[in-house]
Amino acid sequence: MTTPSTLTERQRAHVMFTWSAQQRARTLEIIDAERARFEVAGKGWVWDLESQVYNVNVGHRHPHVQARMIEQINTLPACAPNAVLPVRAALGEQLAARTGLAKVFLTTGGSEAVENAIKIARLATGRSKIIAREHSYHGATLAVLEIAGDPRKQPFVATMGPALHIHDPYPVEPASPSSWLASARALVEREGGETIAAILLEGFTGTNGMQHPPADFWPGVRELCDEHGILLIDDEIFSGFGRTGRWFAREHWGVEVDLMTIGKGLTSGYAPLAGVMLSDALAQRFADEVLWCGLTHYAHPVSCAAALGSLEVLEREQLPANAERVGQVFEGRFAEWIDARPDVVGQRGLGLMRALELDRNAGPMVERAWELGVYLPWRGSMVFVCPPLCLREDEAHGVCDLLAESLLALG
Ligand code: PMP
Repeated sequence: MTTPSTLTERQRAHVMFTWSAQQRARTLEIIDAERARFEVAGKGWVWDLESQVYNVNVGHRHPHVQARMIEQINTLPACAPNAVLPVRAALGEQLAARTGLAKVFLTTGGSEAVENAIKIARLATGRSKIIAREHSYHGATLAVLEIAGDPRKQPFVATMGPALHIHDPYPVEPASPSSWLASARALVEREGGETIAAILLEGFTGTNGMQHPPADFWPGVRELCDEHGILLIDDEIFSGFGRTGRWFAREHWGVEVDLMTIGKGLTSGYAPLAGVMLSDALAQRFADEVLWCGLTHYAHPVSCAAALGSLEVLEREQLPANAERVGQVFEGRFAEWIDARPDVVGQRGLGLMRALELDRNAGPMVERAWELGVYLPWRGSMVFVCPPLCLREDEAHGVCDLLAESLLALG
């Protein structure tokens, strides 16, 4: 039998880990998973507050998604991008019905989806510049790292072009509640509206802060785009498929967009798939013009089956509504801690996309949570609570009890 340490060493010898100095990479040997928990060799079951990479929306090892994938593997596991298949037609119909957008261009991962959205925006407008928020992440490939503000771009910044960023301080100064929008307007004026292809915004910002945008921001950006013929791209890769308590976060802001990127929860992480949704007007552009975009693994049949299965589970089990309800449990318990503890200073979030803010580094809390059986993602003084959307209210209370105990580790 393989012991956990020898397996880890075997893998460490020949497989690189992401975002890590290889010898210091934090590794977990996951041997099983079910619903909102996974099992780690030598430790036992832990609550998954990261949903792996914020993507296992329907929960782990859902039999319906597994069955859909197996059915496709048995029918036709591989075929060319433009082959016509029932699973592709059905997924397109489902996505159009869910998003109100007309067509989807399917990619393997989220970064590629954002890159392709940018290509489509450039093809459609004949312009090149892309504006994003300062606190933003849109993926790890060079083109999208360059555009976003996330610090993970730092090692490459010297060779990148200058980014065009909306200044988005948080909390928003009560004296200047429209400052985000004013910054966007000033930037468009400075650069010249006629040079800007698109404004790219996360539906709701992920690990760059989960800040609630000022009320006038999204509608104001839509207006600004319309004034200048700029396309509005909504990146729902993190916030989509029920995570914020709605199918897509932009439903909270009530605006229409031209392009929307999707990923992660699209397949609940059961297979790699992401995509760009296009409005009807944009899709029409490419009826006669060539769409200069394509990928070997385009609309992979097994990934499409995983996406269909995941969409069916989200719908049948009403997981977006569950995320809203269970999110309220966290919100209520977090509010109690903010009242009771001076080291817990705030909370942000929507549905099951939540952050708790401390007045100090969260490391000791995260370590204690792990000892108690909770896998808690974090950055600096902020911990993130993003479990699979199937978490029940009673389970959320149980997780909160463990988090309350972990807070004691802060001193
Ligand atoms: N956009 C957003 C908003 C994301 O959160 C992510 C992934 N965290 C990406 C794009 C990139 O997706 P991927 O890692 O699948 O390339």
